Amino acid sequence: SPEQLTRYEKIESFVKGFKLSSLTYKRVMSLLDEEMKNGLRSQTNTYADIKMFPTFVRSLPNGSEKGQFLALDLGGTNFRVLLVKLDGNSIDIQSKTYLIPQKIMLGTGAQLFDHIADCIAKFTRDHGLLGERLPLGFTFSFPCKQEGLNIARLSKWTKGFRCEGVVGQDICRLLHEALKKKTSAEIEIVAVVNDAVGTLMSTAHGDNNCEIGLILGTGCNACYMERLENVGLWEGDYSYPEQVVINTEWGAFGDNGCLDFIRTEYDRELDTFSINPGKQLMEKMISGMYLGEIVRLVLERLTTEGLLFRGIDRECELFERGRFFTKYVSEIESDRDEFFRSTKQVLDELQVENYTTEDCKIVRYICTLVSSRAAFLASSGLATLINKLGRPEMTIAVDGSLYRFHPRFHNLMRLKIQELVKPGLKFSLALSHDGSGKGAALVAAVAMRLR
Ligand code: ADP
Repeated sequence: SPEQLTRYEKIESFVKGFKLSSLTYKRVMSLLDEEMKNGLRSQTNTYADIKMFPTFVRSLPNGSEKGQFLALDLGGTNFRVLLVKLDGNSIDIQSKTYLIPQKIMLGTGAQLFDHIADCIAKFTRDHGLLGERLPLGFTFSFPCKQEGLNIARLSKWTKGFRCEGVVGQDICRLLHEALKKKTSAEIEIVAVVNDAVGTLMSTAHGDNNCEIGLILGTGCNACYMERLENVGLWEGDYSYPEQVVINTEWGAFGDNGCLDFIRTEYDRELDTFSINPGKQLMEKMISGMYLGEIVRLVLERLTTEGLLFRGIDRECELFERGRFFTKYVSEIESDRDEFFRSTKQVLDELQVENYTTEDCKIVRYICTLVSSRAAFLASSGLATLINKLGRPEMTIAVDGSLYRFHPRFHNLMRLKIQELVKPGLKFSLALSHDGSGKGAALVAAVAMRLR
């Protein structure tokens, strides 16, 4: 009906900012490429937002790694301790997840590392490891400037963490000191990596074409294998192999304002109310910590404009910041028919009353717009790397709940990357299994093998 048409036309005017053309994504790619080059050059790194940290990981696994390793995974929702037994292609992993209370996430560094050391002490006791010598690989997924494989200074906290007194410190030393206090086990911290590097290592273990790792979880980040001659920042030796894994930290892309031409009013509002305003702007358009909130802000706006949920109660939970989880976006988009079973479940959970089928349709539409833009931006980043490396075949190791559980992310990315890469370059997106656990153990194992 004509009235409906105008409703949709009006809605369009509030969401058109999420629909970007291929040309726009190509513009994003060339900006990103330029920023990554600035990050790699020592002369320009200081003012580059994308830090392009060399990781000191120089070799990928070759399958001969052997032994028993501890791995830690800290960097988002959960903290895990793992015992990884490697023997050629067979891998055995035992792990336990521990909670990091909000109080500790926003407390002091000493409290954080004491808590971690307590968990490790308990884990080694429970697994009968007290007498054993244990090399440890630490997956620490925050931006760090590395000075060695096991020396990493925190540049800044992201993703909801803000522990006092850690920025600028070597997190391996902080962990080492906490461990000395808390356990008698003989633990040697051999390597520290972030989750993207762990993910890359884990998939590269069985796939020689894998040289890019991507995380789409609480945050968004990527790493890749770069030739030393392109790494102006490199301060280590130039011996064989003349390559090093670069942790891009591309979540900070846009922090200098270069992405303002694609950011919407919703992105700006989300940023204003975040704990790190003005920071991690690319990440805030892509990752699991933020997508749900962007959707919520759009729904809120459409509601106040009288275009959605007519007659809704202002006290409804939909109007609470942070109340719309990214997993809802996955659930809503899994509704393929007009019964909207999952959408209704979400709306019920948020205590939205008296919604219509038309409302459900609009909610699903908003979710697809926001998740598509996220998938396309991540694709632009990957296509930039694939083009830069120029290998005829490239496997990209991917991990993170957003990629894993969103029903369309994988396909959206596959199609968009196809559109954006240079003709002739083949690629595949491979879901990585337990990248942060297995990957950290593999880094430690490769380091021990090369000693
Ligand atoms: P992390 O990145 O913290 O190590 P995850 O990869 O599990 O851990 O990512 C957690 C993020 O994924 C959270 O921000 C959460 O909102 C999001 N998430 C969890 N479940 C889903 C889902 N089913 N669909 C989309 N996003 C999800």
